[in-house]
Amino acid sequence: MTPPAGLARPLPPPRADLGLRQGYHSPQVPVEVRLNTNESPYPPPPEWLEALVAQARNIAFNRYPDRAARGLREALGQWHGVPPEQVFAANGSNEVLQSVCLAYGGAGRKAAMFEPTYALHAHIAHLTGTGLVQGQRRPDFTLDVTAATELLEQEDPAVVFLCSPNNPTGLAEDASTVSSIVAATAGLVVVDEAYGQFASWSALELVAEGVPLAVVRTYSKTWSMAGLRLGYLIGPSEVVKALERVALPYHLDALKQAAGRLALGFSAQMEHRVASVVAERDRLVAALSRMPVQVWPSQANFVLWRPRQRRGQEVWQGLVARSVLVRDTSSWPGLQGCLRTTVGTREENDRFLSALAEVLA
Ligand SMILES: *Cc1c(COP(=O)(O)O)cnc(C)c1O
Repeated sequence: MTPPAGLARPLPPPRADLGLRQGYHSPQVPVEVRLNTNESPYPPPPEWLEALVAQARNIAFNRYPDRAARGLREALGQWHGVPPEQVFAANGSNEVLQSVCLAYGGAGRKAAMFEPTYALHAHIAHLTGTGLVQGQRRPDFTLDVTAATELLEQEDPAVVFLCSPNNPTGLAEDASTVSSIVAATAGLVVVDEAYGQFASWSALELVAEGVPLAVVRTYSKTWSMAGLRLGYLIGPSEVVKALERVALPYHLDALKQAAGRLALGFSAQMEHRVASVVAERDRLVAALSRMPVQVWPSQANFVLWRPRQRRGQEVWQGLVARSVLVRDTSSWPGLQGCLRTTVGTREENDRFLSALAEVLA
């Protein structure tokens, strides 16, 4: 369309600091086996979808949804054994993390994280104008608690992000590490447990009123509902109140609230899917350890590994040529040469393993 006379002119530039960081995205290449974004390879149960469709008929779509998402928060609270006042829900755990940065970060405040870790923690902190404190993990990706404590004392961040199990390394923190970090900072400690149900320990057991600790979970991975965009936080009610102050009015639509609540009625199916993924993950790790690659133990639904004799990028290309897509993390800081494979179905994992054997031969 030709611009109306006299109105066209150079557009105003967006915030100059946005240019500093690349937006976060995983390249989507058309392939047969997609093992790059840590989704569940299994769909949610058809019974859940039927229940949701039935519910949808009762929703008054001309009305705004329940602003407090009471039903969903009560159901989540019950599921975790906490009152609804200790539950905050949002559009994906990424929006929960953004709400944390809006409420506790911002200009003049800092958020700390320990790299390599989930790239979105730094990205969201940056977007919300929160200063970054980026500590480093040891070469084996474990957290050096003494060094971390020193850094936290020196920098005094308002928020400390941990990710357990950590994406992209797969390692989980233990109770003593999380407790030490909570003890070492005056800030709010947020443990991102997107992969919580794949791991053997959860920081949820340390959450209590009066403890500056919150745990973030999502429906995207273990619940097989990445398309739903629903995540939540369990923490002290004071933290939940602060997050509600930065959330947009009616940010959770009525259908999503119903979907999340109904999903909890299918926990047994979720646990069954998680158990199959864990069994496949352990098979994948065992198979990789028999190949010329270094492989890290994983408590999540993905495995980080590094070809010993070949460049990571080259191996990634070789896999794509065989219609298998994994995440190329080989140029990420601290992850030189590494690739990350999401655990798929048995067939998908076999496709990946045989393609890799060919590429490495
Ligand atoms: C996948 C993932 C999430 C999920 O984010 P959603 O917005 O809930 O889809 C959060 N944190 C980590 C560490 C992840 O890997």
